[in-house]
Amino acid sequence: MAMQKNLTADDTWFFGHPKGMVTLFFTEMWERMSYYGMRALLVLYMTGAVTGFNPGLGWSETDAQAIYGIYVGMVYFMVIPGGWLADNIFGHQKAVLIGAIIIALGHITLALPLTETFFLGLGLVVLGTGLLKGNISTIVGRLYKEGDERIQAGYTIFYMSINIGSALGFLIVSYLGEKIGWHWGFGAAGVGMIFGVMQYIYFKRLLGGAANEPNAMPESQRNNYIKWSKITAAAMVVVIGLGLFGIISFEPKVFAEYFTVFLTIVAFIYFSYLFIFAGLSKTEKRNLFLLLVLFVGAVAFWSGFDQSGSSLSLFAKEFTDLNILGYVIPIGWLQLANPIFVVIFAPIFAGMWMQLGRLNLDPSLPIKFAIGLFFMALSFMVMIYAVQLAMEVTTVGIQWLLITYLLQTWGELALSPIGLSAFSKYAPKKYIGQMFGLWFLASAIGGVLSGLLGGDALVDGLESISPVFEFMIDYYVLLGIILIVVGAFFAFFDSYSDLQDKVKKLEKRISTLLKSN
Ligand code: GLN
Repeated sequence: MAMQKNLTADDTWFFGHPKGMVTLFFTEMWERMSYYGMRALLVLYMTGAVTGFNPGLGWSETDAQAIYGIYVGMVYFMVIPGGWLADNIFGHQKAVLIGAIIIALGHITLALPLTETFFLGLGLVVLGTGLLKGNISTIVGRLYKEGDERIQAGYTIFYMSINIGSALGFLIVSYLGEKIGWHWGFGAAGVGMIFGVMQYIYFKRLLGGAANEPNAMPESQRNNYIKWSKITAAAMVVVIGLGLFGIISFEPKVFAEYFTVFLTIVAFIYFSYLFIFAGLSKTEKRNLFLLLVLFVGAVAFWSGFDQSGSSLSLFAKEFTDLNILGYVIPIGWLQLANPIFVVIFAPIFAGMWMQLGRLNLDPSLPIKFAIGLFFMALSFMVMIYAVQLAMEVTTVGIQWLLITYLLQTWGELALSPIGLSAFSKYAPKKYIGQMFGLWFLASAIGGVLSGLLGGDALVDGLESISPVFEFMIDYYVLLGIILIVVGAFFAFFDSYSDLQDKVKKLEKRISTLLKSN
């Protein structure tokens, strides 16, 4: 059979997609199960009372949310060095394997009932996710031949695995962590990731040669890279070690602020480098400018979206009535709304874009991102209403958070899966490997900001929430409008270049006609 001969390119074995999708689907599913499951416990564990059933760490809400932000930021920032290591040393397939093992070790470390190893566990998850998350997204694209139309749908299937995984995580990890004991929850995340590692090892052969080899280069250069990677890793171990033994310490909020500035500078340097030194053509520069605009939109989006694990989780804990028919549900279960809504609405959104496309009305990327931001603004308007209600009645029903998550999910669907594939489609050819790094850098900055904004929102209980959320609504609306203007500018630019091309062609034809006469 043809499919036996060629494991990837023309293979339609998995719902019309290459077999390798099976491997990637389940690896990403388990990885996201562990990531989101654990993340749902993180702030609750850090802020939990130190005495009583299921004792937490008793840290302040501001500190806990800043640490949460730094953690989310680090996870996504590490995708950049992770991509570099795959490109130059390991190849993507091996990088994913090493990453998956390190993540599992991280969650198992968190499962130990010790406070001393808490940051070590988080650090391991950060490093492992850096090796896994971006590289697995790259392999998805490499399962298809260049120009294969199925790739878009391939990323949609991949997005499903992310959400099935996070749903499992919220369901299982939150239940065990909140109802039995935090470390049971962390342990469950570890077990999930171990399933992921096992199935990856077993089914890795289905990936064939997709993104298996690192870039070709002289052996001496590779050895040099390996040497410097080892030196960097050793330096990181020393810094982490000094942190763990309390020799260096930091104020979480201050660190998060510096980290935001650092990440922004990294993004600035990266975009500037590509614009100025990468020798891009006019079209590539146009595309890069488009990506920059999307990047800014994505940062803003994630700064609100990722508050599901910080401020919104704390709101759920303190001001929401979680009693359903006599059973008090785990706080993390409310976050199930997001993946469930994704699975329901992703096909509807995809169908809608296609239908609009047929009518020639498919909104451009900046406009879709603007829609994403408007939904985010709406979601926080609902929260402001819920906060006002909570001031009157102490605890509100779960419906407010559910509506908030529904609106955020609609926003996510207008922005996130589309952003992922836009970054692979519009990246300058030579830099495609690093483009996921850049896409996830937006998640990194958004993630840290979500911790900082969440901290500001809850610094004074209910009183301080509305001003912060109002500020966010303002910036979502403003950015949304800017994106629409930029979208219009692009449409104008494109039709103008189109016109220019046509005029040039016409001139050429006229001059050849004149010559021949
Ligand atoms: N929910 C998506 C995922 O986990 C996107 C997250 C993000 O980029 N911040 O992959």
